Amino acid sequence: MACQLDIQPCSEWNLFSRLQRPLVIAGPCSAESEEQLSNTATLLKNNGIEVLRAGIWKPRTRPNCFEGVGEKGLPWLQYIQKTLGLKVATEVANAHHVEAALKQGIDMLWIGARSTANPFVVQEIAEALKGVDIPVLVKNPVNPDIELWVGAFERLYICGIKKLGAIHRGFSSYNSNRYRNTPQWQIPIELKRRIKQLPLFCDPSHISGHREYIQEISQKAMDLGFDGLIIESHIQPDCALSDAAQQITPQQLNNILKQLIIRDAHPNNSSNHLIIEELREKIDTLDNSILEALTHRMKIIEEIGHYKKQNNITILQPDRWENILSRVIDEARKNNLPVELVERVFKAIHQASIDRQTDIMNRHEK
Ligand code: PEP
Ligand code: MN
Repeated sequence: MACQLDIQPCSEWNLFSRLQRPLVIAGPCSAESEEQLSNTATLLKNNGIEVLRAGIWKPRTRPNCFEGVGEKGLPWLQYIQKTLGLKVATEVANAHHVEAALKQGIDMLWIGARSTANPFVVQEIAEALKGVDIPVLVKNPVNPDIELWVGAFERLYICGIKKLGAIHRGFSSYNSNRYRNTPQWQIPIELKRRIKQLPLFCDPSHISGHREYIQEISQKAMDLGFDGLIIESHIQPDCALSDAAQQITPQQLNNILKQLIIRDAHPNNSSNHLIIEELREKIDTLDNSILEALTHRMKIIEEIGHYKKQNNITILQPDRWENILSRVIDEARKNNLPVELVERVFKAIHQASIDRQTDIMNRHEK
């Protein structure tokens, strides 16, 4: 199901003067002091950054962490807007935040991951934004539930917000992984399929949790055709009051951006287009063969199902399943295919076969 939201493209947001990818939003996790903010902002501006991010109200998972300077930080952002000409963005988590931020002329707002997970909060924010025409970015919810993410865009859209964008910041998981938040790239890809015009930003800082991974995650986002990046940058990252390990200096940010390889996201007008089209034809043909093979396989599964029913044989034959799995894994290895992929595909096929045979066993034939 695709969503029909008539979203305004970044070119109509009046935030970025240069619209080439990546559109970059950068700044500290939190505004800590007027000095920290303006020193960081000055260096970012010198490096060509046009939109400054800074959290004023910080949703921290555990109490007794730094929870942001609160409203007194808003005039600091306004001062940077006036003196440096940067656009400024901050996070809002309730109607009061929205009103305070709008009163101070903040240019752009974002909704944090913990808030997106709560439809009441999103609804409250959306209603407080009625009649307001500024861009609002929505981070993915902390849990990998795409419906919550889509629902947040719909709530904002219904309240008249048309300048919408998504921020992919990864998903919490119980086990610790390489990254602080698992990217699960298939989720933003599916979001883009469902809401076609939605600009996608990647937040490599919150995905990684550590500055050493920011480059590789940013590159991956660019390779997937994301429109922009939102990256935490602090004048003295190691002294940051929140998210210290993942922040980088404006100079480090500059180096990362310079090293990014940007590939063409819309190869429509070039000869690339023809080459890609031809290869896509081949993929479509192969997908059809996979579907034909699955249909054929399922017919044989049904035949076996009927035979088992007539002869009172159980559906699951563990030895047979063990043989199938080890055979396909061997084949995968020989063909240099990812074993994990082949295992997942065959487990899904096997489960569907069991389901089909269970239906046959329990069907009451007249
Ligand atoms: C942030 O942007 O500093 C933040 C709190 O992020 P998230 O909502 O992704 O955790
Ligand atoms: Mn942060």
